[in-house]
Amino acid sequence: MEQLQNLIGGELRGAVSGEWLDNIEPATGEVYSQIPRSNAADVNLAVAAAVKAFPQWSTLAFEERAACLRRWAAKVAEHAEALVHAESKDNGKPISLAKAVDIPRAQQNLEFFAGAIEHFASEAHIPADASHIHYTHRKPIGIVGCISPWNLPLYLFTWKIAPALAAGNCVIAKPSEITPFSAFMLSQWAEEAGIPKGVFNVIHGLGAEAGQAIVEHPQIKAISFTGGTSTGAHIARTTAPQFKKLSLELGGKNPAIVFADCDFDKALATTIRSSFANQGQICLCSSRILIEDSLYDRFKTALVEKVARMRVGDPAEQGTKMGAVVSRAHRDKILSNIDAAIKAGGEILCGGTVASPPNTRCNNGFFIQPTIIEGLGPSCEINQEEVFGPVITLQRFSNEKQAIELANDSQYGLAATIWTQDLSKAHRTAAAVDSGIAWINCWLVRDLRTPFGGVKSSGVGREGGFEALRFFTEPQNVCLPTQA
Ligand code: NDP
Repeated sequence: MEQLQNLIGGELRGAVSGEWLDNIEPATGEVYSQIPRSNAADVNLAVAAAVKAFPQWSTLAFEERAACLRRWAAKVAEHAEALVHAESKDNGKPISLAKAVDIPRAQQNLEFFAGAIEHFASEAHIPADASHIHYTHRKPIGIVGCISPWNLPLYLFTWKIAPALAAGNCVIAKPSEITPFSAFMLSQWAEEAGIPKGVFNVIHGLGAEAGQAIVEHPQIKAISFTGGTSTGAHIARTTAPQFKKLSLELGGKNPAIVFADCDFDKALATTIRSSFANQGQICLCSSRILIEDSLYDRFKTALVEKVARMRVGDPAEQGTKMGAVVSRAHRDKILSNIDAAIKAGGEILCGGTVASPPNTRCNNGFFIQPTIIEGLGPSCEINQEEVFGPVITLQRFSNEKQAIELANDSQYGLAATIWTQDLSKAHRTAAAVDSGIAWINCWLVRDLRTPFGGVKSSGVGREGGFEALRFFTEPQNVCLPTQA
């Protein structure tokens, strides 16, 4: 059985504890590899290596740091096929999705931040009498922690480590214990990419042990975290007394607002994708579909008809569109969310239970039918709590004001999707919705320069473009007179 390794000080090694954790393939329920069960002892070693590496890395010309990221991106491109299969096996996502989205985006993240650091200039301010110059010196923070979730493993891992490294920091990174494989593969190519020993360290293990040790370590000065809202709150509580810089990308309960004057076919097709892509396990997925009264029955009928025909299959097969959810525990949590919705009076329009793909290798895998529920009000648990699976609810609204009230009736505020052909209404609605991102007549269209993040319980701070480089640097204002 393959044993994955930590990367500490340029060396691939097991945990100090000598213990291992099983890594399970969600499509089969079988253990297929193991990861080091790391703890504070491993994090201490990684921090010591990073402290040693920081002076050289942080003063290296930005062109040279960018070149390292580009060489690493080339490694991702060279091994794309292997990464696609690894990501699908580790996470349960269809091979087609890993190939179209996850792995190309991981490569782009590395390339994008190589380019971004080359264009990241700092500001200067000169008063009217030109007596002084103020300029902003943006310094790397030092050693930073990057903690990423399981839903888009390499995509979100690289989204954090690329700007952190480009800005001149040394990184202690922890991928999710459930999906460690692609981060392990990437760590094997760091040296070939030219990244000096100790600059990039990967610690595998449990969130409560390895993750907690990163968050608590006094020499780690900033934490970039993507994951669940309750874990984010715990990290905020832990880091507050140390005044660490914090970027939190957390959960969502995203509304799709479908007005009667939408382009029906486009709204329908994209809502199916925005609801069920990656088995609904994308923080940006729509989970509350709000439909205007006069369109409700027609939209519902067409939606249910199409979703009921979606086939859940073996993620390793080329034609599969819906694969496995990430773990047994997550499958059971989703099923209990569906049960609670039924008990609260919800009607299951399709799905509602486990799925059995035809391939017998998947007999013990973790599969759920795409599920649509109606008949529940906004305050019901299923309309308030994040399910993070292939489960959506339908609610009606009778006018724009009510649509916005329903959309905002949530502790979350990550993304909203708005469907209308009335542009003024589209802009008004986007402005009124509490969300970090609003898509009008589209979904998941990304430009890596734009600010990415949520409001309310969906997080603090923004990632993407110069926002990420600002997060990973500390600005210092320097002022000097122009005359002696
Ligand atoms: P978790 O919060 O459970 O875990 C996220 C990461 O944090 C994992 O690496 C986990 O490790 C680690 N972790 C857990 N506990 C601690 C701790 N005490 N200290 C430090 N690290 C810890 O989230 P999931 O992995 O379950 O991911 C799903 C969640 O992520 C959903 O809520 C989703 O909405 C959110 N998400 C948000 C996005 C956004 O951009 N806003 C994007 C994608 C997902 P381990 O897995 O080993 O326990």
